[in-house]
Order: sequence, then structure tokens, then C-alpha cells
Amino acid sequence: MYDYLVVGSGLYGAVFAHEAAKKGKKVLVIDRRPHIAGNVYTEKIEGINMHKYGAHIFHTNSKKVWDYVNQFADFNRFTNSPVANFKGELYSLPFNMYTFNQMWGVTNPLEAEKIIAEQKKEISGTPKNLEEQAISLVGRDIYEKLIKGYTEKQWGRDCKELPAFIIKRLPVRFTFDNNYFNALYQGIPVGGYTKTVQNMLEGIEVKLNTDYLENKPYFDSIADKIIYTGAIDAYFGYRLGALQYRSVRFENEILDIPNFQGNAAVNYTDAETPWTRIIEHKWFEFGKDENGNDIPKTVISREYSSEWSIGDEPYYPVNDEKNNQLYICYKQLAEKENKVIFGGRLGEYKYYDMDKVIEEALKTAEKELSE
Ligand code: UDP
Repeated sequence: MYDYLVVGSGLYGAVFAHEAAKKGKKVLVIDRRPHIAGNVYTEKIEGINMHKYGAHIFHTNSKKVWDYVNQFADFNRFTNSPVANFKGELYSLPFNMYTFNQMWGVTNPLEAEKIIAEQKKEISGTPKNLEEQAISLVGRDIYEKLIKGYTEKQWGRDCKELPAFIIKRLPVRFTFDNNYFNALYQGIPVGGYTKTVQNMLEGIEVKLNTDYLENKPYFDSIADKIIYTGAIDAYFGYRLGALQYRSVRFENEILDIPNFQGNAAVNYTDAETPWTRIIEHKWFEFGKDENGNDIPKTVISREYSSEWSIGDEPYYPVNDEKNNQLYICYKQLAEKENKVIFGGRLGEYKYYDMDKVIEEALKTAEKELSE
């Protein structure tokens, strides 16, 4: 009999499992995929740690979380500075003085503020959706060229139908600063995320290719408690209807050249280009292998967003009004499952960043393991 069965070996599951094992609990981690680490999984190809489920850049403002992850990996000095490509025009991200200079030729903050103040006049009152929020933050020009196309491709919905909070993730700065995140701590784990998660799971029993929901009564019988990090609606057999998710598809290519785009991430912000971004994985680690040598080839991934349907990998919860309402109903069902704790992006149906996932897993572990 296990004290805890952890369903899913992504960050939430791995952190909880680590904490429980540390307290002497008997833990089994299962994952339906053939590998650990969930969507932060990285795989080495041509000497490059490839982010197989999309770019993951660790960033946090929490010293607690930062110290926590540093037990399992050294982090490099990578700072995310994506470039936006709008029909061949390049812009710096996030929205900052470089962007304003490229967009309007302005050379100082006052000029930029003046243009934005003028353009945001079209929005009155509190922004009601992503479009209004975006225009009131950076004005219509930037909205049209750098936000609308990208957002609508990523979410498959009109910006007027999307919640404002999504765009508030991005900083707007009147300084020359291309750092995408407002985070005190940022970096990529040296050696890849898979190794980091492996370190978290050291000494813990892990079974891969093992689907909890396919054999739920059996798995429920072998543990006192379950930590479930899969999709909450799947757990309940979609009995109240399916929540909506966005999925992502990647077209990966190995190229016989050392440098394809000169940056880890280039966002294609027009509506016509079918992919949302291209990731060139080697730049997460400055183009060097573990011995510090330049890598002669490069690996790129074109990222395509799509609506999720049963059988696809869910990536992003669609936190609009309708889905949030449905989630609340599932949450009420979840609260009645006494021996199950639901956690993580899919278990809680929240657009969590990695640091928030870890924070939540630690909170749950503290509460659960002190009882
Ligand atoms: N966004 C945008 N243009 C960009 C990058 C981001 O408008 O070039 C907005 C967009 O609304 C998107 C949100 O910011 O949905 C978050 O995008 P990001 O690429 O940071 O999300 P991730 O997939 O990395 O979580």
C-alpha cells in the first residue's frame, strides 16, 4: 500500500512526490506518457536540449521557489527576449522603448507615451476583453501588428472574446529593456528540464506508460491518497461536458547550419503565417554543448496552435467565462473526492506558469504532510 499515488510526473507531481518522499512517505508516481516531466520534458537532439512541448523559460519573483528549484539544477543566465516578425518587419518584445522606436521612430519615453495616450482614447471605462485591454495598454498600432494576429492564432478566438488577463502577463515599459519577464530570477536548467525532474524523483518509484483513468479502481485501491494532475474533466469522464483547451503541434527540423534565426523565439504576429512562433532550441543554452563547444547544427520547431479534442495533449486551459463556470462545477465534484487532490495546470484548469505550479505543489505538500 502506498501513502500517495501521484498521477502525472510533471512539475506539480514531481514536487509533491519529492516532498512526500522526504517525509518518509511511500510514493508511486505514474504517467501515461513514455517519459517523465510532463510538458517541461526536454530531449537531447544533435547535442541540443530540445523543449519537446514548447519553450519553457523558468522565471519567478519568489525566492522560495527559486531556492527550491536550484536544489535540483543549476540555472544558466538565459533571459527571454523574443523577436516579433510581422510580415517581415522585426520588433522587439515585450513592448518597450525599442519596440516604440521601431514602430513609430520615437526616441524618448515622452514621445512614446504621447502616441499611446492618443491611441488609447478610443477605449473608455474598464477594458472588457483582451482587445480593449491591449489597446488601452499600448494603443491600436501595436495591437494590430504585434498582438491581434498572434493572440487569435494562439487561442483560436477573436480578441474580443478573450479575457483581458492574458495580455496583462506581458510587461509594457518605457525603458530600453527587452526582458520579456518582470522576474527577479530567470534561467534555463543546465542539462535540461528532464534531468531536473529526474533529480526531484530520485529514489521514488515511477511507472511510465501507465494510464490512471484506464484502471482507476485498481490504482485507487493501492494508495491512501491520490494526487491527480491530469485534466479535471477527464477525471470525471467529461460528465458535465468537456472543458476547452488549446493544443499545440510542432513541426521539428534539424538544419545543417549553425544559426537559423539568431534567437530562441521568434513570434509570427501576423494572421497569415500559419505558425505562431519558431523556437530555435540551441539559443536557450547560448548555442553551446555541455563542454562549452559551439554546436554545428541547429534544431527548430514551428509551433501551430489548435483547438484541443479528446486524444490530443491539452496545453492551455481556455479561461473564458463559459469554461470557468464549467470548471467551478467540476471543482465542486472534486471537493467530494475525499482521497484525491487535484493540482497543476490541468487539475486546476489554470494558465499557471512553472513557478506557480511549484508554489502550489509546495503549499499542498506543506498542508497535506503536516497533518
Ligand atoms: N502576446 C502577443 N504577442 C506576442 C506575444 C504574446 O500578443 O508576440 C500575448 C498574446 O495575447 C498571448 C499572450 O501574450 O496569448 C501570452 O503569450 P506567450 O507567448 O507569452 O504565452 P506562452 O505560450 O509563452 O505561455
